[in-house]
Amino acid sequence: MDDQKPLVFADLDDTIFQTRRKMDGAETHRQAAVAANGDPRKSSFMTAQQSAMFNWLNGTTELIPVTARSGDAYSRVDLPFRSWAVISNGALILEPDGQPHRPWADKMTQTLSPLADTMRAILDAGRKADIDTRSWIVEEAGLATYVCFKLNEITPDSLNALENLELPVSNWTRHFNSETLALIPPGSGKAAAVTYLHGLLNKGKARATLGFGDSLSDLSYMTSTDILMIPSRSQIAGTL
Ligand SMILES: [Mg+2]
Repeated sequence: MDDQKPLVFADLDDTIFQTRRKMDGAETHRQAAVAANGDPRKSSFMTAQQSAMFNWLNGTTELIPVTARSGDAYSRVDLPFRSWAVISNGALILEPDGQPHRPWADKMTQTLSPLADTMRAILDAGRKADIDTRSWIVEEAGLATYVCFKLNEITPDSLNALENLELPVSNWTRHFNSETLALIPPGSGKAAAVTYLHGLLNKGKARATLGFGDSLSDLSYMTSTDILMIPSRSQIAGTL
């Protein structure tokens, strides 16, 4: 019975799979996602162990991806998820048939629509800084959801500069990990979406919940679950 299966909320990139560059030469057992430009060096893969872990979770639990990937980037993930999905850093919840969950989409439209100008200001400020990044606003069906900066070249200095990039907002969630800085508006985010979905799927039930993630910012939703699971090589593990 699905009603008794554990609910597993799992980040994708660097938790379930990663790009080849981050595999340190380990054998790629299975391709998990295709890069936007189809470049195999930037596509994502799983080791044999990661593939076994995915099959175990997907076969025995209700496995729910919780990812920063936009709808477009999520559509390039080639894994047979069967349940709900949280994408765009929580701005969109997909139902098991892949369609947006309308109540959440309406709530996010109300929350995020007034912030489009602020996102543009964040983007402009970041682009004026002397850091070599590519940057954009992640949009879903024309709705601006969050701002993303990625380093073009990873060095200790560029990482430090990106982590400390001054931006014209103070109460937004800053996700910083590896070459990425994301600015996520208040009221949105993975934690808000997971809390909502947890309430929807576990109401009146006593299903065990597990939270998988690699980034410190993932702790925001992982700590709302019963058990936290982290890759042994991850930003979270590195701080322990
Ligand atoms: Mg991750």
